[in-house]
Parts: sequence; C-alpha cells; structure tokens
Amino acid sequence: MTSEHGLSFPGTGAGELAGQTALVTGASRGLGRAVAIELARAGARVACVARNEAKLVETVGEIRALGGDAEAVACDVSDAASVQQAVESVLSRWQQIHVLVNNAGITRDTLLARMQDAQWDEVLNTNLRGAFLFTRAVTRPMMQARYGRIINMASVSGLVGNPGQANYAASKAGLIGFTRAVARELASRKITVNAVAPGFIETEMTQALGDATLEEVKNRIPVKRLGLAEEVAAAVRFLAGPRAGYITGQVLVIDGGLTA
Ligand code: NAP
Repeated sequence: MTSEHGLSFPGTGAGELAGQTALVTGASRGLGRAVAIELARAGARVACVARNEAKLVETVGEIRALGGDAEAVACDVSDAASVQQAVESVLSRWQQIHVLVNNAGITRDTLLARMQDAQWDEVLNTNLRGAFLFTRAVTRPMMQARYGRIINMASVSGLVGNPGQANYAASKAGLIGFTRAVARELASRKITVNAVAPGFIETEMTQALGDATLEEVKNRIPVKRLGLAEEVAAAVRFLAGPRAGYITGQVLVIDGGLTA
C-alpha cells in the first residue's frame, strides 16, 4: 500500500526490515539480545555490539540458526575511537545502517552520599555518552540516505527517579532529553528518534536485586509480574519499522502499569 505522501506500508509487519541493517548495542544478553533477535526475525541484518566478543557470538549464532544474518562487533560504547571503528566496519560490510538501538547500559547503585566519582562516571559514560557517540556516528550516513530509526533504551528510573540510582536516573533522564532534541534535529531527514522506558524486566540486571526486593517490586506493579525482554523487543521492533515514521521524540513506557 502506498499513501498519498508516497510512503509505503508493508501489510502484516512480517519481514518489514528485510534488506535493512540494524546495529544493537549491548546485544550479548538481556534486552539487547532479545532486541537483536527480534529485529533479525523482522528481516534485518544485525550488527551485535558489546565488549565481550565471546558472549556476542552466542547471540550471532542464535540469529544465524534462525536463518538470519548477524555479526559480532566488539566495542566499548563509551570510547569514541572504538565506536567510530565499529560503525565504519558495519558500513563497509553492509553499506548502510537503517536502525540504531542504543541499549548498552549499566548500573552502579548506591546512595548519593556514598557514591564514588567512578560510579557516577562509569554509568554516565556508558548509558549517556555511549548513546551520544553511536548516534553521532550514524547521523551522517542516515542523513545521506534520508532514512533512519534510532531507539534509545531509557528507563522508568529516568522518569520518576529511584533511591540509590542518582547516577542511573540522571543518565536515563539525560537520554530522554537527548532523544527529544535529536528527534527535532533529524526529523526533516526522515530519521525518527524515540526512547523506550522499561520498568522491571527479567534480565541479569534485575536478578542482581535479589529475591526479597523482586517480590516487593512485583507487588507494586499493577500486572503483578516482571516484564519479559521479548515484550520490550516487540515495542522496539515496531518503532524500528517503516510504519512508525510519524512517531518521533517520544518515550514509550513499558512497565506493567508501574508509573501509570
Ligand atoms: P544486562 O543484562 O546487564 O546487559 C547489558 C548489555 O550491555 C550487555 O550486553 C553488556 O555487554 C553491554 N554493555 C555494558 N557496558 C558496555 C559498554 N561499555 N560497551 C558496550 N557494551 C556494554 O542489562 P539489561 O537488563 O539487558 O539492560 C539493557 C538496557 O536496558 C540498559 O540500558 C538498561 O539500563 C535498560 N533497562 C533495563 C531494565 C531491566 O529491568 N532489565 C529496565 C529499564 C531499562 P558487555 O558487558 O560484554 O559489554
């Protein structure tokens, strides 16, 4: 189907990213791994980025087993040279990056009074600077192609704050401001920039909270359970697709009603 504005809308969504390249940071486990697999299911070739290449190879193997195409790109998102090199290697292999998912993120939780400079810097450098570096690196090729989808993995912590997470909440709130500003800058080039803000999702990051805390958390969530990585990946797939072209600068909250 082609609209009056000359935009084409694939019918069902199956295979809507065929022929496209996606780059997903933090793709070796948790949400990033689920997103990489989901985008591959949608037909995209996926460049899977993280620091530990051995773990990345597992995600790549899984995508290839599904009949998809993927490559592992070892890179520290907080390091400008490493990011530039990663983007160049993907562009030289696949010519274009249609979808960027800035998902790599860490926590270094502690109360503000005890927070070390390094705990602040590590979190801000990974969660916020990493997204800045990757977004800047893909902007020129996306502008030349006059097409792009950028999705930033924020968190409800960046919306409502969380005690013990001043560094993390600041990084995620910063990512939301970054999303809105860049969305306005790139909209005229048909590049959309959105954020998703998950609540508590079952991954290694939340397992680290311990059983007692997780039980207390579940009781506070209206749907009474943690989310699944696949449920976040499904939302990212939608925002990454050609049918989401009129959505930009938005934050999609995926939290089982926690912040409703
Ligand atoms: P996770 O299981 O700890 O995975 C984090 C991923 O990021 C790993 O692949 C890790 O690989 C990579 N990574 C960390 N530092 C990196 C760096 N400097 N350079 C490159 N890659 C790096 O975390 P997750 O739970 O899936 O979370 C993924 C994202 O969702 C994060 O941004 C997180 O803040 C956000 N989020 C998670 C939840 C949740 O409930 N799980 C809720 C809201 C938001 P290496 O260690 O090998 O580099």
